Amino acid sequence: MYQQLSFRLQELSPQGREWDLEIPTSLFGDTGFGEVDAPASLCKGVQWKGSVVPQDGLFRLRGEWNTELMRHCVRCNAEFALHMEGDCSRYFRLGLEPDSDGDSVECDAVAPPGEVNLLDMLREEFWLTWKPVVVCDKACKGLCQQCGENLNRHECKCSQHDSDHPFAALRNIRFNS
Ligand SMILES: [Zn+2]
Ligand SMILES: [Zn+2]
Repeated sequence: MYQQLSFRLQELSPQGREWDLEIPTSLFGDTGFGEVDAPASLCKGVQWKGSVVPQDGLFRLRGEWNTELMRHCVRCNAEFALHMEGDCSRYFRLGLEPDSDGDSVECDAVAPPGEVNLLDMLREEFWLTWKPVVVCDKACKGLCQQCGENLNRHECKCSQHDSDHPFAALRNIRFNS
């Protein structure tokens, strides 16, 4: 699979190249291969569907990827599988010499023979999409600030005995009137 995930711009045919495959977690997370940080705790392989084709003297790579990663919810601290996905669109140029009139689009210049490591590129896309703060569900109720109960699972009793709560006085007024 290593061979499938790296290619040389110089050796691409005019039709380019296509992928529709799943990169196993063991490979995507393999720190011994590639230079970009390999994410740990993927719980699903990385689906990648994409292509690279020569276009106007450049090479256009685009495609879609998705995977799942184990994360902890910042509200309730539960571990859950977070779905991650992204579109990727990049241009490559063969050769490090800049164009005389400048590149018309932003592109990565690669020295001949134009070796591109798709795995590293997808890892970069992965980290660009990675969010430091995630919740298990938009409606997650989190933990009770007082007793630590996970409010998604149980109602705790704190809200009924919260005389310290700033609104407790208001509640009494309402009951008495
Ligand atoms: Zn949560
Ligand atoms: Zn509580």
